[in-house]
Order: sequence, then structure tokens, then C-alpha cells
Amino acid sequence: MSQDKPDADDGLVRIHLEPCPCGQTPTMLMVELENSKKRGHTFGDCCGEWLVEFSNNYNVDRDKMAAKAKAAWNRAPRSDPVSS
Ligand SMILES: [Zn+2]
Repeated sequence: MSQDKPDADDGLVRIHLEPCPCGQTPTMLMVELENSKKRGHTFGDCCGEWLVEFSNNYNVDRDKMAAKAKAAWNRAPRSDPVSS
């Protein structure tokens, strides 16, 4: 098997994401928007349970949407891990 695939990304921007409270660091974020596209929420591909709401402001540009989602994810306050 030849490994001639260039070591470049295929359109995906490698972004730094803060870890999820579940203990893992997501490699990418999923985005779901309200029908109005006014607001949305994003969640990591780790557990899919920790949602961060963000104001999408009717934006339809996927890159901007992703940037908003990423910013919301990384800015979300994180409490210390729950200690039993
Ligand atoms: Zn998680």
C-alpha cells in the first residue's frame, strides 16, 4: 500500500478545543441550530451530552457558524470535575 496521501488537512481546520467536562477532549464539534437560526448549540463528538448554547444570529455561513460554536465551547465556564 503506497502512502502517497499528502499530510495535509482536507478542508477541515484543526482547531484547539478545550476539554469536555466528561473528561475527554473532543476532536470536533457538532452544531445544531434552531429553525430560526437565531440560536444554536454545539456539543463535542466525545459524549454528545454536554451542550453549549451560542447565539448564531441568523448566520448561514458554515465557517462563521463553526467559529461561533468553537468560541462558545472554549469560553464556556468549566467547573472543577465533580468529586464524589
Ligand atoms: Zn464529552
